[in-house]
Amino acid sequence: MNRRGEAAERFAERRRREDEAPRLLEVAPDLVSCKIEIEERRAGVTGADVSHTRRVVVEHAPALFLVACGDPACRDGGHDITGDILRGLREHRAEIRGEDTCFGSTGSAECGRVIGYAAFAEYKPQV
Ligand SMILES: [Zn+2]
Repeated sequence: MNRRGEAAERFAERRRREDEAPRLLEVAPDLVSCKIEIEERRAGVTGADVSHTRRVVVEHAPALFLVACGDPACRDGGHDITGDILRGLREHRAEIRGEDTCFGSTGSAECGRVIGYAAFAEYKPQV
């Protein structure tokens, strides 16, 4: 299969997972807002290469948090931070921080790209 076909297939796979995932509000019904800051860096290099903020559209978002690998040479990589984020949201944490190492490969080597993430969440007041 050519690279374009592979990319299309990965995209379709991701769409399928997003469609099948429960909605975020089913998992965290009192969530009001959530944004996630993501820093990418190469293995063994200190200091962030890239950082960006992802604002989660709480009303529509699937309960699925996938971050694409920032290395264009990486194949089948990426970061699935769904488990940590959902756990934090269930515990009503205002801030959820963690790190994840890419599981993809670049040629014969492991990718090993690391992201650091920090999610900031707001919840409805408890009554
Ligand atoms: Zn990677």
